[in-house]
Amino acid sequence: MTKVLLTGGSGFIAAHILELLLQRGHEVVTTVRSDDKASKIRDAHPNAKLAVVIVPDIAKSDAFDEVVKTPGLEVVLHTASPFHYNWTDPKTELLDPAIIGTTSILKAIKKSAPGVKRVVITSSFASILSEKGLADPKKVFSEADWNPNTYEDGLKDNKATSYRVSKTIAEKSAWKFIEEEKPNFDLATVCPPLVFGPIVHHLNSLSAINTSNQRFVDLIQGKFKDEIPPTGVYFWVDVRDVALAHVEAFERPEAGGKRFFTTAGKFNNREVVAAVRKNFPELKDKLPSEGVKGGDYPEGGVYGYDNSRATKELGINWISIEKSSVDTVKSLQAVGA
Ligand code: NDP
Repeated sequence: MTKVLLTGGSGFIAAHILELLLQRGHEVVTTVRSDDKASKIRDAHPNAKLAVVIVPDIAKSDAFDEVVKTPGLEVVLHTASPFHYNWTDPKTELLDPAIIGTTSILKAIKKSAPGVKRVVITSSFASILSEKGLADPKKVFSEADWNPNTYEDGLKDNKATSYRVSKTIAEKSAWKFIEEEKPNFDLATVCPPLVFGPIVHHLNSLSAINTSNQRFVDLIQGKFKDEIPPTGVYFWVDVRDVALAHVEAFERPEAGGKRFFTTAGKFNNREVVAAVRKNFPELKDKLPSEGVKGGDYPEGGVYGYDNSRATKELGINWISIEKSSVDTVKSLQAVGA
């Protein structure tokens, strides 16, 4: 049993991490932004070895100073970071919480949590990709790659770039902190591309769906009926595999000091539509029929990936896109979609 601090416990990915931590017998302290979110998590896990603490604003440099003083903490999993496009000012609403959130927790642990031996940060494929690589069918992405965009690029008028910069600079800042400060803990980072899968966190309404599952809501509500939209980035992973990667990344001593590119591989929107069409005949009227165009891979092919480190060193047997799509849709139907 390990005592683990999990930030952002109200999130899509973090809720799965929380479930797995409790299943494996770990004791958890998780942070959320509001009393309402705290109560929902406590209600969902009665009798668990779980404390829920309010950290209202992770963009404050002292945000985590108190919670890291929790006696007995050994591991910190930092997932809290904005992943949505409902912001107007990229600095205060996106870059600050992502970057200051990361550096402030590392500083706080170094100062006040000498028992912490491993920190795992949820980074992203956003910190690996490059525009050039995404346009090159010969490119093979792996942990060796870094997004070349700068902080200044993140302030320009492109929401996707701003998000990618928020993750890139946050992860780079974390590795720099380890190198320069030589703290009492080491670091592992988990870099997922698009994360799909069933929701287990509380949603006030379907409009609050996490960003990466939005396409499933759109699909089953009929928005793909006349044309399947372009896929965007062609890599994906199931949320249960992402949760497993976080837990394995602290349970395995040899994972320290490493980035993990956690992708199940390639997918396109056409495959998602086919999986949902096959398994949910009752949704026929909402779904595009087989002749509807769109959602394919580009004619020239797409870039490749090397996920061998995460597969071997974290022991992940990747969930398939069909299973992930089916379980996602079932979970959305259960909340009224
Ligand atoms: P969610 O939006 O469901 O979760 C984000 C979490 O971060 C929530 O707990 C949210 O709190 C918290 N958060 C966001 N902004 C702030 C802020 N300003 N102050 C305090 N807390 C904040 O998304 P995911 O679960 O998908 O994302 C979790 C992590 O995974 C993020 O770091 C994201 O960048 C990363 N990621 C996600 C991918 C995906 O496809 N889903 C892919 C790659 C990386 P609240 O509930 O109060 O909003």
